[in-house]
Amino acid sequence: MEHALPGAFVGLDVGGTYLKAALLDAQGALVEKRRYPIRKDSAASILAQFAEAVRDLAGAEPVRTVRAIGIGLPGIVDRAARVRVAPNVPVLNGLAVGEEVRARTGVAAFAENDANVAALAEAYRGAGRGADNVLVVTLGTGVGGGVVLKRRLWTGTGGYAGEIGHIQVDQAGVRCGCGSWGCLETLVGVPSWERRGRAALEAGRSSTLATLAKLEPKTVVAEAEKGDALALELVEESARALAVGIAAALQLLNVERVVVAGGVSNAGPILLDRVREHVQKRCFPQVFADASICVAELGSDAGVIGAGTLALLEAGPGA
Ligand SMILES: [Zn+2]
Repeated sequence: MEHALPGAFVGLDVGGTYLKAALLDAQGALVEKRRYPIRKDSAASILAQFAEAVRDLAGAEPVRTVRAIGIGLPGIVDRAARVRVAPNVPVLNGLAVGEEVRARTGVAAFAENDANVAALAEAYRGAGRGADNVLVVTLGTGVGGGVVLKRRLWTGTGGYAGEIGHIQVDQAGVRCGCGSWGCLETLVGVPSWERRGRAALEAGRSSTLATLAKLEPKTVVAEAEKGDALALELVEESARALAVGIAAALQLLNVERVVVAGGVSNAGPILLDRVREHVQKRCFPQVFADASICVAELGSDAGVIGAGTLALLEAGPGA
């Protein structure tokens, strides 16, 4: 099959469960997307799968139709697009994924951390559209981030910039997976809702949360909206922690748009309204006035769209 799309881009979003792939046209608009169960038993098999996904979308000879490939990877990716560590897909450790995909497809390929490419997607195609300087904060099990300055991803000296989830927001906080303590992630990440809620219940607080099997942002927010005092405290604590992190980033970067993405961001306005209030208290009035804080638009498509956008930015627009 020959896909009639000269100058197209392919985005690959590598996750612990699925490989997602998308075809973007020469201007970077989404044309088609697909999803495959990830084959992560060996480096050879996952790299072969990447090349197959490109051919599946772009035809047997991708070099004739695809201008560049972008890849979002679930781990720490260095400046040379080599994976330092990918906890959920360890076969990627040490691989220079961009080079490997180029060798298998004949097409220029670029790789980045998945939170960074998702940030690019929101900046170019989502809630950051029209803004030159955008901070994206992704709230999930972990808390990730990406910084887009003057329309380009800011990855820092070694490629590790944007880790807002590991800004310390509580000097007396609990240990974080990164080795530090009191990181934003320890007060906003999904597991923290269970940890903080259970601790309060075990300490004897009475709350409707005691009737829930699992304490997640969504369920806790629902109880907070019904007026449960403990649930409200948990929401307030997360909102304040998130605001401390965002305010620090705003004072440093003076961006015009903060996009909050990930599952927790859909918890409802109760969280973001509080975040805005607390950010305002912690920023210069001018810095706060320059920035709007909004919810992401692209959902789970941000990864593939961002990977394709990375390819477009690295290789330049297609024909
Ligand atoms: Zn940390």
